[in-house]
Amino acid sequence: MEKINVTEIFGCDVFNDSVMRSRLPKDVFKQVQRSMNEGKRLDSAAATVVANAMKDWAIEKGATHFTHWFQPMTGITAEKHDSFISPVDGGKVIMEFSGKELIQGEPDASSFPSGGLRATFEARGYTAWDPTSYAFIKDNVLCIPTAFCSYGGEALDKKTPLLRSMEAINRQGMRVLKLFGNTEVTSVKTTVGPEQEYFLVDKNVYEKRKDLVYTGRTLFGAKPPKGQELDDHYFGTIKPRVAAFMKALDQELWRLGVMAKTEHNEAAPAQHELAPVFTTANIAADHNQLTMELMQKLARRFDMVCLLHEKPFAGVNGSGKHNNWSMVTNTGINLLEPGETPYENAQFLLFLCAVIQAVDDYQDMLRISVASAGNDHRLGASEAPPAIVSIFLGEELEGILEAIEKDAPYGGVEKELIKVGVHVLPKFPKDTTDRNRTSPFAFTGNKFEFRMLGSSASISGANVVLNTAVAESLRQYADVLEQAEDFEAALHDLIRDVIRRHKRIIFNGNGYDEAWVQEAEHRGLLNLKTTPDCVPYYVCPKNIELFTRHRVYTATELKARYEIKLSSYCKVLHIEALTMLDMTQKDILPAVSGYARSLAEAALAKRSLSDTMDVSFETGLATKISRLTAELNGRAASLSTAVTKAEALTDSLEQARFYRDTVFEEMCSLRQVADELETLCSAEYWPYPSYGDLLFSVK
Ligand code: ADP
Ligand code: MG
Repeated sequence: MEKINVTEIFGCDVFNDSVMRSRLPKDVFKQVQRSMNEGKRLDSAAATVVANAMKDWAIEKGATHFTHWFQPMTGITAEKHDSFISPVDGGKVIMEFSGKELIQGEPDASSFPSGGLRATFEARGYTAWDPTSYAFIKDNVLCIPTAFCSYGGEALDKKTPLLRSMEAINRQGMRVLKLFGNTEVTSVKTTVGPEQEYFLVDKNVYEKRKDLVYTGRTLFGAKPPKGQELDDHYFGTIKPRVAAFMKALDQELWRLGVMAKTEHNEAAPAQHELAPVFTTANIAADHNQLTMELMQKLARRFDMVCLLHEKPFAGVNGSGKHNNWSMVTNTGINLLEPGETPYENAQFLLFLCAVIQAVDDYQDMLRISVASAGNDHRLGASEAPPAIVSIFLGEELEGILEAIEKDAPYGGVEKELIKVGVHVLPKFPKDTTDRNRTSPFAFTGNKFEFRMLGSSASISGANVVLNTAVAESLRQYADVLEQAEDFEAALHDLIRDVIRRHKRIIFNGNGYDEAWVQEAEHRGLLNLKTTPDCVPYYVCPKNIELFTRHRVYTATELKARYEIKLSSYCKVLHIEALTMLDMTQKDILPAVSGYARSLAEAALAKRSLSDTMDVSFETGLATKISRLTAELNGRAASLSTAVTKAEALTDSLEQARFYRDTVFEEMCSLRQVADELETLCSAEYWPYPSYGDLLFSVK
């Protein structure tokens, strides 16, 4: 087997600190570090030096082009390649890359969604270098991570608000840390480790399914005789072809400095997961985009296709993304680590409270941050967390909070009163905190795991909400504590009050249980089942106030995102409906009608041999199929009518609701008949590979 040296290849395609240190003059290197840590803009002289060094390095590595790599609102990344060549006398070229080209670009981006932010006369947005995320080389192209804005400065992408939200939590986190007497800390960042789920199917089988090709999920498909009932896939042996893919993926990711760590099989057949080591939220978001891109590219190399859709197969577990999240200081303190001393404990409790309050106050925004047509199939389907947002803390930690809330003694034999800042917290075992897989938002010992994210979406949106909402809790705490005469007493009271006000969001029970839906309603928690249910909250006054106060979104930017979310929801359903109609009319109806005809012909042929021949199978089945065929034809006509009605609606919210209530319902009823026909039709006639063919296609 070919041997690879992991430490040698790790980050070899990245213009990282060690490359910069060796290639930049000392003062320029220092300037870059400052701009990375403090977000200060690089002056143009320094930018020229950096650009030159970057270009030389990239050319040595075989790069011929550069691109401003950005994340428009489509949810995927975009790039437009420019070569380094510049003409000189004698019909020759030289390789050039200026400081200006590094810092700012002008992609022709008029066709990216802007939610009405850009009038067509000023269609061009611009991209701006994000020096906090390293440049890297991919397919001989030097990629420069950038933010994408309109000329008015409005964010048109997923990176800009994430960077702004990190500034917000840094500002408020620093205020709170100062109060605890932390003098060495100069910044607070959030850290994220996103676990990514995906499916792998054989390419040849995939290509025979128009639904997968056009929409990323199966729109038809009868249940296979074997699904995930046996639980024999989870953590099972990895098939050789998949193992080869995972190995290649790890290597490519390592080259790009992505710390791919764990690869294993997931619950459903053909489902797998990759988890990286956590890093700064902004970089984690970039890396997750790269991971998804490489997964799709490399799968092809092994004649497979990687499905990132949240629900590729009905009746089989879908794919999500677990967003492990915490806060860390530049001195390396994890602020969600309980610590050992009363002082560390008190600080931990306050940051814990900040998250609890944030999740309670902004349940709606967290739900929106994971909303999409694809993810609607998962949330609440008893395989992923419910659409109700709640927090799992584990019994031990909840017990501690309860003791503080009620000024009651805590613990076993030697019960103690817990005075924040004075007493050491009783130990609570870490590993018991991670067992409740049904919770959407679980404390796992030293971080929170937000489990509602869909597998195909950027992690940016969820982290923007988390960062900003927690910044808001911290802002309120700093306001109170900065005025306090007795810090410790004020802190204790504050923590107790936060627990009192927000404990309704804490739920340690089974999130899949029907009783929880009632209980949550009783507690006044939101249960926003679908995308059209939650999107209106985007623009409610409380949320506009949050995001404008922390300078993360302007009211106009929020309205634009509201429009984009609704319109992409409608588009997805529209394409799915049209694909279903196409498949029904072009393939399924002709196939089943052909099969019925062959049955009728077989019956006739038998009868021509003898009048007493038993043709009950042929005629019985042909009759049943003919009846269902007529039914299918009728339901296709209703779906078609519904789509036409949907298209005519002009209000985006009304349209989204119509797609959900009418178009989607028609799709489901069409599918039901088609799936029944699939179970009756001979494999020879059925036009598509079955669920069994797909799920067990990779041998
Ligand atoms: P599992 O959830 O499979 O039990 P872990 O809990 O060890 O595994 O880690 C899951 C993910 O959480 C990994 O990506 C890991 O890097 C990430 N993680 C661990 N600590 C932190 C942290 N402080 N901040 C953000 N992510 C973290
Ligand atoms: Mg996990």
